[in-house]
Amino acid sequence: MSRKIARGHIDPCVIRTPLLLSRGGGLGMAGPGRYDRRMFKFEISKSEPGGRARCGVLTTPHGAIRTPAFMPVGTRATVKGVWPAQVRESGADILLANTYHLGLRPGPELIAELGGLHRFMGWDGPILTDSGGFQVFSLSALNQITDEGVTFRSHIDGQLLRLDPEQATRIQYLLGADIIMAFDQCPPGDADRDVVARAVERTVRWAGECKQALERLSASPPALNGCDAAMKERLADLATVRGMPDEAQSGCSPHPAPAQDKPERKMQAMFGIVQGGIFPDLRRACAQQLMEIGFPGYAIGGLSVGETHEQMVAVLDDLVWRLPADRPRYLMGVGMPRDILAAVRAGVDLFDCVLPTRNGRRAYAFTARGPLRLRNEKYRRQDQPLETECSCPACRQFSRAYIRHLFMVGEMLGPMLVSVHNLWFFQRFMSRLRDLIPTGDWGRMLEEFPVAGPAGPTQLTQED
Ligand SMILES: [Zn+2]
Repeated sequence: MSRKIARGHIDPCVIRTPLLLSRGGGLGMAGPGRYDRRMFKFEISKSEPGGRARCGVLTTPHGAIRTPAFMPVGTRATVKGVWPAQVRESGADILLANTYHLGLRPGPELIAELGGLHRFMGWDGPILTDSGGFQVFSLSALNQITDEGVTFRSHIDGQLLRLDPEQATRIQYLLGADIIMAFDQCPPGDADRDVVARAVERTVRWAGECKQALERLSASPPALNGCDAAMKERLADLATVRGMPDEAQSGCSPHPAPAQDKPERKMQAMFGIVQGGIFPDLRRACAQQLMEIGFPGYAIGGLSVGETHEQMVAVLDDLVWRLPADRPRYLMGVGMPRDILAAVRAGVDLFDCVLPTRNGRRAYAFTARGPLRLRNEKYRRQDQPLETECSCPACRQFSRAYIRHLFMVGEMLGPMLVSVHNLWFFQRFMSRLRDLIPTGDWGRMLEEFPVAGPAGPTQLTQED
């Protein structure tokens, strides 16, 4: 974050991890401490003995992501209340930002003109943008869903807007995140089978259109007002990832491999999103059709929308192993420790959730033994940190009593401190999962993190 980026200069991307350094030589190193920014690859380093969990490294043009990974959510180009350097210090390798929100304000053209989302928000690590589909269906007053797209009213000013595969891809292309999502239809959790089946049909159709839209954009980047020559060059250099470099040799995937006609131009990777609700056959059909289209990674959407933990686990256990073993798998919007553990055991690699910061703002602190609700009277005189095992800036310096006081008098530092602590908690949880995957010792994981066990909380704001 301290790196100065000249306006309009093409970001050279600085190596951050020894993992990258160790294998940088044959991958287009641009000089000491740098690697080819077009690089995008996924390598699985270790797997659970006799199980489906796996550890790996997902390399993007802006750095490497240790998987399984938890992505803090920066909805409107900020992880609420937390500086980028603090997000990085928590151990996060990648952030998520929202296409819908940034598409409305400040608009993708402005962000592109200002050098893209990384530069705009002061985060030089990897970024993933979602498709906007979830927000369109959950936040907006819907007007019309057709096979072509969605017409909706903005939740900000009621303006009538349209989001379709072309537009969702264009916005994400201009934002410039490392990983972008195909536009999908996310039906409500209580939708009946016919509605979910229709959503699957549209999601598959739209995924193909998104892939084509990204290829068109890559071939002829849009002109922008006020866009300087360097920015145009950067836009011209954006290109879809058409497959993993080593997929032909891996032998892991029984699915048709995407063409690799432009292996040297790799900047944005588009993932397809598997919908299908809690219906295993619809999930399988959706996954199969997306794999036939071919994406460098696959997301699982439409979970954590009201179904039970058991229903979610049943979907994941049936679905995840069917996705190509050599591609990253991303479970969208799921973040309770208990759900993450089950999903990792099913073979999921990436997670995102607003829980750390949303709960932090509401005075809920995550701990390995369960959440603390800091407004509770019992913390009034407690001089210990939120969690003794935690080495976050909040736990290093402040007591529960002090943080409670901040909330009780409405001081803004309170939500900031608990947000930071919660971000650290999730990264510590993921780090321990990565440590233990090669042993498969889930009993030890539950001893250290009872919060992830059967008695752990399943709701967003469970009280202690
Ligand atoms: Zn802490």
